[in-house]
Amino acid sequence: MSDKTKGQLLKEELFYKKKSAFELKSAEDLARAKAYAADYAAWLDASKTEREAVTASIALLEKAGYREYKLGEALAAGDNVYLNNRGKNLFVIHVGSEPIENGVRICAAHIDAPRIDLKQHPLYENDGFGYFKTHYYGGIRKYQWATIPLALHGVVTKADGTTVDVRIGDEAGDPVFCITDLLPHLAKDQNGRPLGSAFTGEGLNIVMATSPYIEEDGKVTPADEKTKLNVMIMLYEKYGITESDFMSAELSIVPAQNSVDVGLDRWLIGAYGHDDRVCSYPALTALMETKDSVHTNIAVLADKEETGSDGVSGMQCCLLVDLIDELAKNLNGNANVVRMNSKCLSADVTACYDPNYAEVFERRNSSLLHCGVGLSKYTGSGGKGGTNDTSAEYVAFVRKIFDDAGVIWQTAELGKVDQGGGGTVAKYISNQNIDTVDIGVPVLSMHAPFECISKSDLYEAHLAFTAFCK
Ligand code: MN
Ligand code: MN
Repeated sequence: MSDKTKGQLLKEELFYKKKSAFELKSAEDLARAKAYAADYAAWLDASKTEREAVTASIALLEKAGYREYKLGEALAAGDNVYLNNRGKNLFVIHVGSEPIENGVRICAAHIDAPRIDLKQHPLYENDGFGYFKTHYYGGIRKYQWATIPLALHGVVTKADGTTVDVRIGDEAGDPVFCITDLLPHLAKDQNGRPLGSAFTGEGLNIVMATSPYIEEDGKVTPADEKTKLNVMIMLYEKYGITESDFMSAELSIVPAQNSVDVGLDRWLIGAYGHDDRVCSYPALTALMETKDSVHTNIAVLADKEETGSDGVSGMQCCLLVDLIDELAKNLNGNANVVRMNSKCLSADVTACYDPNYAEVFERRNSSLLHCGVGLSKYTGSGGKGGTNDTSAEYVAFVRKIFDDAGVIWQTAELGKVDQGGGGTVAKYISNQNIDTVDIGVPVLSMHAPFECISKSDLYEAHLAFTAFCK
Protein backbone atom coordinates (compact mmCIF):
# COMPACT_ATOMS: atom_id res chain seq x y z
CA MET A 1 0.00 0.00 0.00
CA SER A 2 1.60 3.22 -1.16
CA ASP A 3 1.54 6.06 1.30
CA LYS A 4 1.62 8.55 -1.55
CA THR A 5 -1.39 10.81 -1.99
CA LYS A 6 -3.58 10.72 -5.08
CA GLY A 7 -2.05 13.98 -6.19
CA GLN A 8 1.47 12.59 -5.85
CA LEU A 9 0.57 9.46 -7.81
CA LEU A 10 -1.15 11.50 -10.52
CA LYS A 11 1.89 13.72 -10.74
CA GLU A 12 4.10 10.70 -11.39
CA GLU A 13 1.68 9.54 -14.08
CA LEU A 14 1.08 12.87 -15.77
CA PHE A 15 4.33 14.80 -15.58
CA TYR A 16 7.34 14.42 -17.85
CA LYS A 17 10.64 14.06 -16.12
CA LYS A 18 13.91 14.13 -18.00
CA LYS A 19 16.42 11.53 -16.85
CA SER A 20 20.07 10.95 -17.64
CA ALA A 21 21.76 7.84 -18.96
CA PHE A 22 23.19 7.28 -15.49
CA GLU A 23 19.67 6.89 -14.10
CA LEU A 24 18.26 4.92 -17.01
CA LYS A 25 21.03 2.66 -18.26
CA SER A 26 22.68 -0.44 -16.85
CA ALA A 27 26.38 -0.67 -16.10
CA GLU A 28 26.75 -2.88 -19.19
CA ASP A 29 25.05 -0.27 -21.40
CA LEU A 30 27.30 2.46 -20.03
CA ALA A 31 30.38 0.33 -20.70
CA ARG A 32 29.12 -0.24 -24.26
CA ALA A 33 28.80 3.52 -24.70
CA LYS A 34 32.42 4.05 -23.67
CA ALA A 35 33.66 1.31 -26.01
CA TYR A 36 31.67 2.78 -28.91
CA ALA A 37 33.12 6.21 -28.12
CA ALA A 38 36.67 4.89 -28.44
CA ASP A 39 35.92 3.68 -31.99
CA TYR A 40 34.34 7.03 -32.81
CA ALA A 41 37.38 8.93 -31.53
CA ALA A 42 39.71 6.92 -33.78
CA TRP A 43 37.52 7.62 -36.83
CA LEU A 44 37.24 11.29 -35.84
CA ASP A 45 41.01 11.77 -35.57
CA ALA A 46 41.36 10.38 -39.09
CA SER A 47 38.58 12.71 -40.36
CA LYS A 48 39.62 16.33 -39.93
CA THR A 49 38.29 17.36 -43.35
CA GLU A 50 35.26 16.15 -45.31
CA ARG A 51 37.58 14.37 -47.75
CA GLU A 52 39.33 12.53 -44.94
CA ALA A 53 35.95 11.61 -43.43
CA VAL A 54 34.87 10.10 -46.76
CA THR A 55 38.11 8.09 -46.99
CA ALA A 56 37.90 6.85 -43.38
CA SER A 57 34.23 5.94 -43.80
CA ILE A 58 34.81 4.00 -47.02
CA ALA A 59 37.53 2.01 -45.25
CA LEU A 60 34.98 0.96 -42.60
CA LEU A 61 32.31 0.22 -45.20
CA GLU A 62 34.56 -1.93 -47.37
CA LYS A 63 35.64 -3.90 -44.33
CA ALA A 64 31.93 -4.49 -43.68
CA GLY A 65 31.38 -5.79 -47.21
CA TYR A 66 29.99 -2.71 -48.96
CA ARG A 67 30.93 -2.13 -52.59
CA GLU A 68 31.13 1.08 -54.58
CA TYR A 69 28.09 2.12 -56.59
CA LYS A 70 28.15 4.55 -59.52
CA LEU A 71 25.07 6.53 -60.42
CA GLY A 72 23.16 4.77 -63.19
CA GLU A 73 24.19 1.23 -62.24
CA ALA A 74 21.53 -1.36 -61.42
CA LEU A 75 20.29 -1.66 -57.85
CA ALA A 76 18.44 -4.62 -56.36
CA ALA A 77 16.98 -5.65 -53.00
CA GLY A 78 19.71 -6.73 -50.61
CA ASP A 79 22.38 -4.43 -52.06
CA ASN A 80 24.68 -2.66 -49.58
CA VAL A 81 26.65 -0.03 -51.46
CA TYR A 82 28.16 3.43 -51.19
CA LEU A 83 28.27 6.33 -53.61
CA ASN A 84 31.36 8.51 -53.33
CA ASN A 85 30.45 11.99 -54.58
CA ARG A 86 33.69 13.65 -55.66
CA GLY A 87 35.52 12.46 -52.56
CA LYS A 88 33.70 15.01 -50.38
CA ASN A 89 30.22 13.63 -49.85
CA LEU A 90 29.19 10.03 -49.22
CA PHE A 91 25.91 8.15 -49.62
CA VAL A 92 25.58 4.76 -47.95
CA ILE A 93 22.70 2.74 -49.36
CA HIS A 94 20.91 -0.40 -48.23
CA VAL A 95 18.22 -1.61 -50.61
CA GLY A 96 15.47 -3.24 -48.56
CA SER A 97 13.00 -5.96 -49.46
CA GLU A 98 9.77 -4.03 -48.94
CA PRO A 99 8.13 -2.14 -51.86
CA ILE A 100 10.18 0.94 -52.70
CA GLU A 101 7.01 3.04 -52.70
CA ASN A 102 6.90 2.55 -48.92
CA GLY A 103 9.62 5.19 -48.99
CA VAL A 104 13.27 5.43 -48.03
CA ARG A 105 14.66 6.10 -44.56
CA ILE A 106 17.39 8.72 -44.57
CA CYS A 107 19.90 9.73 -41.90
CA ALA A 108 21.53 12.93 -43.14
CA ALA A 109 24.57 14.33 -41.35
CA HIS A 110 27.44 16.57 -42.45
CA ILE A 111 31.18 15.94 -42.42
CA ASP A 112 32.45 19.47 -43.01
CA ALA A 113 33.31 21.59 -39.97
CA PRO A 114 34.28 25.22 -39.36
CA ARG A 115 37.94 25.80 -40.12
CA ILE A 116 40.37 28.20 -41.77
CA ASP A 117 40.95 27.70 -45.52
CA LEU A 118 43.97 28.96 -47.42
CA LYS A 119 43.37 31.58 -50.08
CA GLN A 120 44.22 30.59 -53.65
CA HIS A 121 47.37 32.75 -53.56
CA PRO A 122 48.31 32.20 -49.93
CA LEU A 123 52.08 32.31 -49.51
CA TYR A 124 53.81 35.58 -48.66
CA GLU A 125 56.64 36.96 -46.60
CA ASN A 126 56.56 39.78 -44.09
CA ASP A 127 59.70 40.82 -42.19
CA GLY A 128 61.26 37.39 -42.42
CA PHE A 129 58.09 35.49 -41.48
CA GLY A 130 56.65 33.12 -44.09
CA TYR A 131 52.85 33.26 -43.83
CA PHE A 132 49.75 31.73 -45.38
CA LYS A 133 46.83 34.10 -46.05
CA THR A 134 43.50 32.53 -45.15
CA HIS A 135 39.77 32.84 -45.58
CA TYR A 136 37.82 31.22 -42.76
CA TYR A 137 35.14 28.61 -43.52
CA GLY A 138 31.89 28.50 -41.56
CA GLY A 139 30.99 30.21 -38.31
CA ILE A 140 34.15 30.54 -36.28
CA ARG A 141 34.84 32.77 -33.30
CA LYS A 142 38.14 34.10 -34.58
CA TYR A 143 39.83 34.68 -31.23
CA GLN A 144 39.61 30.94 -30.46
CA TRP A 145 42.01 30.10 -33.29
CA ALA A 146 44.97 32.20 -32.12
CA THR A 147 47.74 30.60 -30.05
CA ILE A 148 46.67 26.99 -30.56
CA PRO A 149 48.63 24.35 -32.49
CA LEU A 150 47.30 24.08 -36.04
CA ALA A 151 47.69 21.49 -38.79
CA LEU A 152 47.61 21.77 -42.57
CA HIS A 153 45.27 19.37 -44.37
CA GLY A 154 43.93 19.09 -47.87
CA VAL A 155 44.68 18.38 -51.48
CA VAL A 156 46.62 20.03 -54.26
CA THR A 157 45.70 19.16 -57.83
CA LYS A 158 48.62 20.01 -60.07
CA ALA A 159 48.48 21.34 -63.61
CA ASP A 160 48.88 17.80 -64.97
CA GLY A 161 45.71 16.71 -63.12
CA THR A 162 47.42 14.59 -60.46
CA THR A 163 46.38 15.21 -56.86
CA VAL A 164 48.56 15.04 -53.78
CA ASP A 165 47.22 14.71 -50.24
CA VAL A 166 48.67 17.12 -47.72
CA ARG A 167 48.62 16.43 -44.00
CA ILE A 168 51.13 18.01 -41.63
CA GLY A 169 50.76 18.60 -37.91
CA ASP A 170 48.94 15.57 -36.48
CA GLU A 171 51.55 12.83 -36.37
CA ALA A 172 54.00 12.55 -33.50
CA GLY A 173 57.14 14.43 -34.51
CA ASP A 174 55.31 16.70 -36.99
CA PRO A 175 55.74 20.45 -36.70
CA VAL A 176 52.57 22.48 -36.18
CA PHE A 177 51.59 25.99 -37.30
CA CYS A 178 49.95 28.88 -35.49
CA ILE A 179 48.31 32.27 -35.48
CA THR A 180 50.07 34.58 -33.03
CA ASP A 181 48.33 36.94 -30.59
CA LEU A 182 49.32 40.07 -28.74
CA LEU A 183 50.93 39.98 -25.34
CA PRO A 184 48.60 41.43 -22.67
CA HIS A 185 51.18 44.11 -21.98
CA LEU A 186 50.51 45.65 -25.39
CA ALA A 187 46.88 44.71 -25.87
CA LYS A 188 45.27 47.90 -24.55
CA ASP A 189 43.65 48.86 -27.85
CA GLN A 190 42.70 45.31 -28.76
CA ASN A 191 41.22 44.69 -25.29
CA GLY A 192 38.96 47.68 -25.80
CA ARG A 193 37.40 46.24 -28.95
CA PRO A 194 34.29 44.00 -28.85
CA LEU A 195 35.08 40.26 -28.92
CA GLY A 196 33.61 39.89 -32.40
CA SER A 197 35.90 42.50 -33.92
CA ALA A 198 39.06 42.14 -31.83
CA PHE A 199 40.32 39.71 -34.48
CA THR A 200 39.83 40.29 -38.19
CA GLY A 201 39.48 37.78 -40.99
CA GLU A 202 42.49 39.25 -42.76
CA GLY A 203 44.47 38.96 -39.52
CA LEU A 204 44.24 35.16 -39.40
CA ASN A 205 47.65 34.62 -41.00
CA ILE A 206 49.41 31.34 -40.42
CA VAL A 207 53.09 31.22 -39.43
CA MET A 208 54.64 28.64 -41.77
CA ALA A 209 58.36 29.29 -41.31
CA THR A 210 60.72 31.94 -39.97
CA SER A 211 64.09 31.21 -41.53
CA PRO A 212 65.68 32.01 -44.90
CA TYR A 213 66.68 29.47 -47.52
CA ILE A 214 70.32 28.46 -47.07
CA GLU A 215 72.27 27.88 -50.27
CA GLU A 216 74.49 24.83 -50.80
CA ASP A 217 77.54 26.83 -49.75
CA GLY A 218 75.95 27.33 -46.32
CA LYS A 219 75.19 31.00 -46.90
CA VAL A 220 71.84 32.76 -46.75
CA THR A 221 70.40 32.96 -50.25
CA PRO A 222 70.93 36.26 -52.06
CA ALA A 223 67.43 35.89 -53.55
CA ASP A 224 64.79 38.16 -52.03
CA GLU A 225 61.72 36.72 -50.21
CA LYS A 226 64.14 34.34 -48.55
CA THR A 227 61.67 32.77 -46.08
CA LYS A 228 58.91 32.44 -48.65
CA LEU A 229 61.46 30.69 -50.86
CA ASN A 230 62.37 28.39 -47.99
CA VAL A 231 58.71 27.42 -47.45
CA MET A 232 58.13 26.85 -51.15
CA ILE A 233 61.26 24.69 -51.50
CA MET A 234 60.24 22.54 -48.51
CA LEU A 235 56.75 22.06 -49.94
CA TYR A 236 58.20 21.28 -53.36
CA GLU A 237 60.54 18.67 -51.88
CA LYS A 238 57.74 17.03 -49.86
CA TYR A 239 54.83 17.30 -52.31
CA GLY A 240 56.25 18.30 -55.68
CA ILE A 241 54.13 21.46 -55.81
CA THR A 242 54.98 24.95 -57.02
CA GLU A 243 53.38 28.26 -56.05
CA SER A 244 50.94 28.25 -58.98
CA ASP A 245 49.56 24.88 -57.79
CA PHE A 246 47.93 26.64 -54.80
CA MET A 247 45.47 28.03 -57.32
CA SER A 248 44.02 24.55 -57.82
CA ALA A 249 44.23 23.40 -54.22
CA GLU A 250 41.89 22.94 -51.30
CA LEU A 251 44.07 23.42 -48.25
CA SER A 252 42.69 23.96 -44.78
CA ILE A 253 44.03 24.84 -41.38
CA VAL A 254 42.51 22.68 -38.66
CA PRO A 255 43.42 22.12 -35.01
CA ALA A 256 46.43 19.83 -34.64
CA GLN A 257 45.12 18.37 -31.38
CA ASN A 258 43.50 14.94 -31.54
CA SER A 259 40.52 13.82 -29.47
CA VAL A 260 40.98 13.31 -25.75
CA ASP A 261 38.87 12.32 -22.75
CA VAL A 262 37.70 15.27 -20.67
CA GLY A 263 37.02 15.01 -16.94
CA LEU A 264 38.28 12.63 -14.28
CA ASP A 265 35.28 10.40 -15.01
CA ARG A 266 36.15 10.40 -18.73
CA TRP A 267 32.54 10.87 -19.85
CA LEU A 268 33.25 13.71 -22.30
CA ILE A 269 35.28 13.67 -25.50
CA GLY A 270 37.03 16.92 -26.34
CA ALA A 271 37.92 17.24 -30.02
CA TYR A 272 37.77 19.31 -33.16
CA GLY A 273 34.83 18.74 -35.50
CA HIS A 274 32.20 16.98 -33.40
CA ASP A 275 29.78 19.21 -35.34
CA ASP A 276 28.76 17.18 -37.19
CA ARG A 277 30.99 14.15 -37.28
CA VAL A 278 29.49 13.10 -33.95
CA CYS A 279 26.25 12.42 -35.87
CA SER A 280 27.95 11.26 -39.09
CA TYR A 281 29.66 8.34 -37.40
CA PRO A 282 26.45 7.02 -35.76
CA ALA A 283 24.64 7.40 -39.11
CA LEU A 284 27.36 5.24 -40.64
CA THR A 285 27.32 2.60 -37.90
CA ALA A 286 23.50 2.53 -37.91
CA LEU A 287 23.52 1.59 -41.60
CA MET A 288 26.18 -1.06 -40.98
CA GLU A 289 24.06 -2.58 -38.20
CA THR A 290 20.91 -2.75 -40.30
CA LYS A 291 22.25 -4.44 -43.43
CA ASP A 292 19.29 -6.83 -43.49
CA SER A 293 16.53 -4.30 -42.87
CA VAL A 294 13.32 -4.56 -44.87
CA HIS A 295 13.54 -0.78 -45.32
CA THR A 296 15.64 0.92 -47.94
CA ASN A 297 18.01 3.09 -45.93
CA ILE A 298 20.35 5.88 -46.95
CA ALA A 299 22.95 7.61 -44.81
CA VAL A 300 24.11 10.90 -46.28
CA LEU A 301 27.37 12.42 -45.13
CA ALA A 302 27.16 15.86 -46.69
CA ASP A 303 29.69 18.60 -47.26
CA LYS A 304 29.21 22.40 -47.16
CA GLU A 305 26.57 22.51 -44.40
CA GLU A 306 28.58 25.13 -42.56
CA THR A 307 28.46 27.49 -45.54
CA GLY A 308 24.81 26.95 -46.51
CA SER A 309 24.73 23.50 -48.16
CA ASP A 310 25.28 24.92 -51.65
CA GLY A 311 27.27 23.29 -54.42
CA VAL A 312 27.76 19.81 -55.85
CA SER A 313 28.77 18.23 -52.54
CA GLY A 314 26.19 20.06 -50.41
CA MET A 315 22.71 18.96 -49.40
CA GLN A 316 21.06 21.38 -51.82
CA CYS A 317 22.57 19.43 -54.72
CA CYS A 318 20.01 17.27 -56.54
CA LEU A 319 22.03 14.08 -56.04
CA LEU A 320 19.86 12.69 -53.22
CA VAL A 321 16.78 13.14 -55.40
CA ASP A 322 18.62 11.56 -58.36
CA LEU A 323 19.51 8.61 -56.16
CA ILE A 324 15.88 8.16 -55.08
CA ASP A 325 14.91 8.36 -58.78
CA GLU A 326 17.38 5.56 -59.51
CA LEU A 327 16.01 3.43 -56.69
CA ALA A 328 12.45 4.00 -57.93
CA LYS A 329 13.38 3.16 -61.50
CA ASN A 330 15.25 -0.02 -60.56
CA LEU A 331 12.59 -1.25 -58.16
CA ASN A 332 9.53 -0.37 -60.24
CA GLY A 333 8.24 2.50 -58.18
CA ASN A 334 7.04 6.02 -58.86
CA ALA A 335 9.78 8.36 -57.62
CA ASN A 336 7.29 11.02 -56.52
CA VAL A 337 5.50 8.47 -54.37
CA VAL A 338 8.79 7.17 -52.98
CA ARG A 339 9.76 10.68 -51.85
CA MET A 340 6.34 11.40 -50.38
CA ASN A 341 6.58 8.28 -48.22
CA SER A 342 10.23 8.72 -47.31
CA LYS A 343 11.32 9.77 -43.85
CA CYS A 344 14.43 11.54 -42.72
CA LEU A 345 16.40 12.21 -39.59
CA SER A 346 18.45 15.34 -40.13
CA ALA A 347 21.31 14.14 -37.95
CA ASP A 348 22.96 17.30 -36.71
CA VAL A 349 24.21 18.51 -33.38
CA THR A 350 22.39 20.85 -31.06
CA ALA A 351 23.61 23.20 -28.35
CA CYS A 352 24.13 21.54 -24.99
CA TYR A 353 22.89 23.51 -21.99
CA ASP A 354 25.96 25.06 -20.38
CA PRO A 355 25.59 26.12 -16.72
CA ASN A 356 28.50 28.51 -17.17
CA TYR A 357 26.48 30.45 -19.77
CA ALA A 358 22.99 29.76 -18.43
CA GLU A 359 21.78 33.21 -19.43
CA VAL A 360 21.55 32.37 -23.16
CA PHE A 361 19.58 29.15 -22.64
CA GLU A 362 15.99 28.45 -21.71
CA ARG A 363 16.76 25.45 -19.57
CA ARG A 364 13.40 23.70 -19.80
CA ASN A 365 13.71 23.48 -23.59
CA SER A 366 17.44 23.01 -23.87
CA SER A 367 19.11 19.65 -24.25
CA LEU A 368 20.97 18.60 -21.15
CA LEU A 369 24.27 16.75 -21.03
CA HIS A 370 24.01 12.92 -20.77
CA CYS A 371 20.22 13.05 -21.29
CA GLY A 372 20.30 11.56 -24.76
CA VAL A 373 19.93 12.74 -28.33
CA GLY A 374 18.19 16.06 -28.81
CA LEU A 375 15.14 16.25 -31.07
CA SER A 376 14.52 19.71 -32.52
CA LYS A 377 11.05 20.03 -34.00
CA TYR A 378 12.22 23.32 -35.46
CA THR A 379 15.44 25.31 -35.74
CA GLY A 380 15.89 28.73 -37.37
CA SER A 381 15.99 32.16 -35.76
CA GLY A 382 13.63 34.97 -34.80
CA GLY A 383 10.04 33.91 -35.46
CA LYS A 384 11.15 30.43 -36.58
CA GLY A 385 12.68 31.99 -39.69
CA GLY A 386 14.33 29.59 -42.12
CA THR A 387 13.23 26.45 -40.38
CA ASN A 388 11.90 23.04 -41.22
CA ASP A 389 9.19 22.92 -38.53
CA THR A 390 8.17 19.29 -38.71
CA SER A 391 4.69 17.96 -37.93
CA ALA A 392 3.35 16.60 -34.65
CA GLU A 393 2.56 13.38 -36.49
CA TYR A 394 6.12 12.90 -37.64
CA VAL A 395 7.57 13.68 -34.20
CA ALA A 396 5.18 11.06 -32.79
CA PHE A 397 6.29 8.54 -35.43
CA VAL A 398 9.94 9.03 -34.49
CA ARG A 399 9.18 9.16 -30.78
CA LYS A 400 7.51 5.75 -30.89
CA ILE A 401 10.50 4.19 -32.65
CA PHE A 402 12.86 5.61 -30.02
CA ASP A 403 10.67 4.69 -27.07
CA ASP A 404 10.13 1.13 -28.33
CA ALA A 405 13.90 0.71 -28.69
CA GLY A 406 14.69 2.21 -25.28
CA VAL A 407 16.57 5.16 -26.78
CA ILE A 408 17.14 8.09 -24.44
CA TRP A 409 16.08 11.28 -26.18
CA GLN A 410 15.02 14.77 -25.25
CA THR A 411 13.74 17.87 -26.99
CA ALA A 412 16.27 20.50 -27.93
CA GLU A 413 15.83 24.17 -28.70
CA LEU A 414 19.12 25.90 -29.43
CA GLY A 415 18.80 28.77 -26.97
CA LYS A 416 16.55 31.57 -25.81
CA VAL A 417 14.11 33.06 -28.32
CA ASP A 418 15.76 35.97 -30.18
CA GLN A 419 19.19 35.16 -28.72
CA GLY A 420 20.46 33.89 -32.06
CA GLY A 421 19.72 30.76 -33.99
CA GLY A 422 20.92 28.28 -36.51
CA GLY A 423 19.89 25.92 -39.25
CA THR A 424 20.66 22.47 -40.58
CA VAL A 425 20.16 20.49 -43.77
CA ALA A 426 16.62 19.56 -42.64
CA LYS A 427 14.84 22.13 -44.77
CA TYR A 428 16.63 21.14 -47.96
CA ILE A 429 15.44 17.56 -47.56
CA SER A 430 11.91 18.39 -46.43
CA ASN A 431 11.60 20.76 -49.40
CA GLN A 432 11.77 17.58 -51.52
CA ASN A 433 8.51 16.38 -49.94
CA ILE A 434 10.27 14.17 -47.38
CA ASP A 435 9.22 14.29 -43.71
CA THR A 436 12.30 15.39 -41.77
CA VAL A 437 13.16 16.14 -38.18
CA ASP A 438 16.42 17.24 -36.57
CA ILE A 439 18.01 14.75 -34.19
CA GLY A 440 21.51 15.13 -32.84
CA VAL A 441 24.05 15.02 -30.09
CA PRO A 442 24.26 18.05 -27.74
CA VAL A 443 27.61 19.85 -28.02
CA LEU A 444 29.43 22.14 -25.58
CA SER A 445 31.53 24.97 -27.11
CA MET A 446 30.07 24.28 -30.56
CA HIS A 447 32.23 25.46 -33.48
CA ALA A 448 35.24 25.94 -31.21
CA PRO A 449 38.54 24.24 -32.12
CA PHE A 450 37.89 22.02 -29.09
CA GLU A 451 34.24 20.98 -28.71
CA CYS A 452 32.94 18.59 -26.05
CA ILE A 453 30.27 15.89 -26.25
CA SER A 454 28.99 13.18 -23.94
CA LYS A 455 29.93 9.60 -24.75
CA SER A 456 26.49 8.45 -23.58
CA ASP A 457 24.70 10.96 -25.83
CA LEU A 458 26.87 9.77 -28.73
CA TYR A 459 25.87 6.17 -28.08
CA GLU A 460 22.18 7.10 -27.89
CA ALA A 461 22.56 8.69 -31.34
CA HIS A 462 23.85 5.35 -32.61
CA LEU A 463 20.91 3.53 -30.99
CA ALA A 464 18.43 6.11 -32.28
CA PHE A 465 19.57 5.97 -35.91
CA THR A 466 19.82 2.17 -35.75
CA ALA A 467 16.24 1.90 -34.45
CA PHE A 468 15.07 4.22 -37.23
CA CYS A 469 16.73 2.11 -39.96
CA LYS A 470 15.90 -1.31 -38.50
MN1 MN B 1 26.05 20.99 -37.79
MN1 MN C 1 27.74 23.88 -37.32
